[in-house]
Amino acid sequence: MKSLLEVKNLRIDFKTYGGEVHAVRGVNFEVKRGETIGIVGESGCGKSVTAKAIMKLLASPPAQYKEGSITYNGIDLIEASEREMERIRGNEISMIFQDPMTSLNPTSKVGMQIMESVLKHNQMTRKKAYNLALDTLKLVGIPQPEKRMEQYPHEFSGGMRQRAMIAMALVCQPKLLIADEPTTALDVTIQAQILELMKDIQKQSETAIILITHDLGVVAEICDRVVVMYAGKVVESGTVLEIFQKPKHPYTKGLLKSVPRFDMDKSVPLAPIIGSPPDLFSPPKGCSFYPRCDYAMKICMEHDPDLEDVGDGQITACWLQHPMAKAMNVKKVINA
Ligand code: SF4
Ligand code: MG
Repeated sequence: MKSLLEVKNLRIDFKTYGGEVHAVRGVNFEVKRGETIGIVGESGCGKSVTAKAIMKLLASPPAQYKEGSITYNGIDLIEASEREMERIRGNEISMIFQDPMTSLNPTSKVGMQIMESVLKHNQMTRKKAYNLALDTLKLVGIPQPEKRMEQYPHEFSGGMRQRAMIAMALVCQPKLLIADEPTTALDVTIQAQILELMKDIQKQSETAIILITHDLGVVAEICDRVVVMYAGKVVESGTVLEIFQKPKHPYTKGLLKSVPRFDMDKSVPLAPIIGSPPDLFSPPKGCSFYPRCDYAMKICMEHDPDLEDVGDGQITACWLQHPMAKAMNVKKVINA
């Protein structure tokens, strides 16, 4: 299947008074039509920056696209004009954020906001736009949609606001929906409902979803494939089954051991990953994970491993998976 979105060797820096932050340092992944991919990693690993880069929502300066490409449906988004991006944003690619109030205007009725987003991109009568907005509110499970159309965001509960924001993101039937921590601010039952809703959307439409989260439980629930990021880079990616059942990268293994899961042996205690991610002003020379890695070897401190195919499209960036691993002195663990 042809890719809908392809991110290749993306590098983004932020210029600050303290120097340059290398926030995204070579990110590669692709999204096919209708598939859901999860991007996971600790906060500050570059997930949200990558998402905003796709939407071209990073203010420049301070952000600088250093290298690489983002291709959507054959269009180079980094080179695209602001006019072209205005056509794409909301219409072809939509984004939902953790806090619905960042997308909803508190001074305008919810129905009007959804209608405006339709009318911005499509030639149609207000009556048609109204009906479409109403149908989308129904689709996202908002009860009494006629009444809700006339209300302001503050009259909605947190969960309902999140649904309204999803409605606004979906009303133009985008081909790609980017959801950045869409359930983090919600309580657990509402979280489950929103995930259920996203699963339904995925079933009913051809919309591809990029779900950004630090929550592996959410990923297991709805994603087809997973991209694991660490310190501004992709360190592993594969199908959900591959990542959960045979993770290859020590960081992915660490992430899986640090969160409770239903399928895990309850007698094995949870183990957080000791230490913290590197400072992205001056990331380490070799593998960024070596200061925290139980398997770190001498080579890891000096050379950063490339992503290698470890079978069936699962890829990982770790010297332990290098074809020459056996020939290298892999026994020399430095953090033991
Ligand atoms: Fe650990 Fe080395 Fe693999 Fe990095 S390359 S994850 S330090 S073993
Ligand atoms: Mg974030």
